[in-house]
Amino acid sequence: MMKLENVNMDRYSAISPGYDPWDPIVSLREFGRHVLTSVEMTVTNLCNMRCEHCAVGDSLMLREPEQIPLEVMLNSLDQVENLRTISITGGEPTFRRQTVDEVIVPLLKYAKSRGVRSQINSNLTLDYERYEKLLPFLDVMHISFNYTNEREFHEVGFARSGHSVNADVAYRMYHKMIENSRKLSEAGMFISAESMINYRTYDKLPEIHRLIQDMGCRRHEVHPMYAADFAEGLPVLPLEKMRSAIHSLLDARNRELWMLFGTLPFFACNGNKEDTELLRRLRKEPNVTVRNDPDGRNRVNVNMFTGDVYVTDFAAIPAFGNVRDARLDDIFADWLNNHPLNQKVNCHCDAAGCCGPNLLVADMYYKDIDFKSRKAITL
Ligand code: SF4
Repeated sequence: MMKLENVNMDRYSAISPGYDPWDPIVSLREFGRHVLTSVEMTVTNLCNMRCEHCAVGDSLMLREPEQIPLEVMLNSLDQVENLRTISITGGEPTFRRQTVDEVIVPLLKYAKSRGVRSQINSNLTLDYERYEKLLPFLDVMHISFNYTNEREFHEVGFARSGHSVNADVAYRMYHKMIENSRKLSEAGMFISAESMINYRTYDKLPEIHRLIQDMGCRRHEVHPMYAADFAEGLPVLPLEKMRSAIHSLLDARNRELWMLFGTLPFFACNGNKEDTELLRRLRKEPNVTVRNDPDGRNRVNVNMFTGDVYVTDFAAIPAFGNVRDARLDDIFADWLNNHPLNQKVNCHCDAAGCCGPNLLVADMYYKDIDFKSRKAITL
């Protein structure tokens, strides 16, 4: 049985705009260097949807192999000295009831007993009972919401099915997701709905924001969509359109609702007028936070079928370790100190609250830029 020697109950302050333990700048400031504080686990490759934008779409399957023993994963987590958060992802993590009972609930119980905050990424379209089981243990239920009606959900959510999906089936799932979200929120679950800024949503974000509030969500997350996996062939939104989409959302939003922006491609070292204006606005708006990207800064992803360790859940960058052979802290230290990809983007300007671009962002918009030689200009 695992040891609970790293219990850290004093970390149990409420998740809020003032305390976001997933943001790597929090641990960077505390330790003076990047430290592994967050572990994401891929617990399934099964999903009842096939979204157009799915970042792990190519890994989705119809049947899946055995997982590594849960004990191996729990021991591995137990050895992470400064663990603050875990995230559980898929596929749809709750797709099989057995995964909920035998993997997800034990992982959440472990996290809770250690004072570690937890998140699940789900589409919330299955029956209420399997989500209800998570209520006593889970900190953040993270869902994707990119639609203004059931027809858009049908179009986007099954774009990669390879066969046509009956509209009525899709509409029922859409309404189930909304009903589940309302019911779980009423029961006290913190639901954070993420919308992507992409070629479909950039001029509809205020309407999407309104629906997210109606669903009882406590946070609206907004991330630009980047070309990974299924999304590889989708049109890339020019930066001007992305900026104006964010401004229009900030104009229309409910200022009481926490808005979290992440993986933005705008940096305080860019120095152009438009980015400066936007970054200043984001900084000043009440209940708005901009999260630095956790991938490879304070977080790794573990595939629970192989034990392989990745920098992110979409496996464009090959695995650089395995939980069966090494401690996660050691695997992370090796990535941090020796991996050439990390050396390209591992910058930090504390006054701007920034610790560098996401790897995909750097690759897509800043291919020839050496961020390590830049400094924040906009404050
Ligand atoms: S940390 Fe890096 S990306 Fe951020 S402002 Fe500084 S140099 Fe630019």
